[in-house]
Amino acid sequence: MATSMDWDELVWAWEGFRDAVGIPNKPLFARYVDIANEGARANGYDDLGDSWRSAYSDDLENQVYELYNAILPLYKQLHAYVRRRLNGVYGSEHVPLTGNLPANVLGDMWGRFWTNIYPHVVPYPDLPNIDVSDEMVRQNYTVDRIARMADEFFSSMGLFPVNDAFWENSMLERPDDGRDVVCHASAWDFYNRVDFRIKMCTEVNMEYFLILHHELGHIQYDMNYKHQPVSFRDGANIAFQEAIGEVMSQSVATPKHLKEVGLFDGEDDPIEGEYN
Ligand SMILES: [Zn+2]
Repeated sequence: MATSMDWDELVWAWEGFRDAVGIPNKPLFARYVDIANEGARANGYDDLGDSWRSAYSDDLENQVYELYNAILPLYKQLHAYVRRRLNGVYGSEHVPLTGNLPANVLGDMWGRFWTNIYPHVVPYPDLPNIDVSDEMVRQNYTVDRIARMADEFFSSMGLFPVNDAFWENSMLERPDDGRDVVCHASAWDFYNRVDFRIKMCTEVNMEYFLILHHELGHIQYDMNYKHQPVSFRDGANIAFQEAIGEVMSQSVATPKHLKEVGLFDGEDDPIEGEYN
């Protein structure tokens, strides 16, 4: 999904995944929803959705619509721009210049992150590449170096560096001893005030560079509330905990920071003048 530009192959993979995973899971998922709702009702909620929303104010729906409407004009422009570029790759037969984008050409199995189609949509191809993956490889980056840089990013702002136990206990790379592990990146607080770990199968590229900063955002949060009683050792709500990590990885992805750490050699914002 990330690299193929073969329409038929992308359709094959997209449909194949859904046939293989979706169809057999459908009855299990329906049963899972019943059980989850039953559990939520036992805890005094109307259903599982009601329990999820309980962490937020009653105004949640309005707030979400306000945010949605605020970004809609920008999103429409972005959508049309990407559609025009993908039309150039796949042709009007597959990506017409009006209507929805087909999910199988967006670079991952869920049409979720569009980072992998960056080569098709890069707006100023003559300017230095802000995807620094190639540069990381060129400079012989290792997973350990990425992790130390991410830790340094936090401590340079006066936040906590991770402890020795973190480096001993975390799994930052896919094990090569044949163990079957869940690679999906996650951060863990062991609730004993000293043991915080990340589990992920880091690869040397920009995506993982950012994910590692994101996960360390969770660890930073964990370390900052470690002195609290256990009941208070959690984010203000689920979204807030994620937002800390996202704020960090967004800051790291700026040309200014990438230049600072020697991964990017262009101007901070070379086209700024054109829009003044
Ligand atoms: Zn997260």
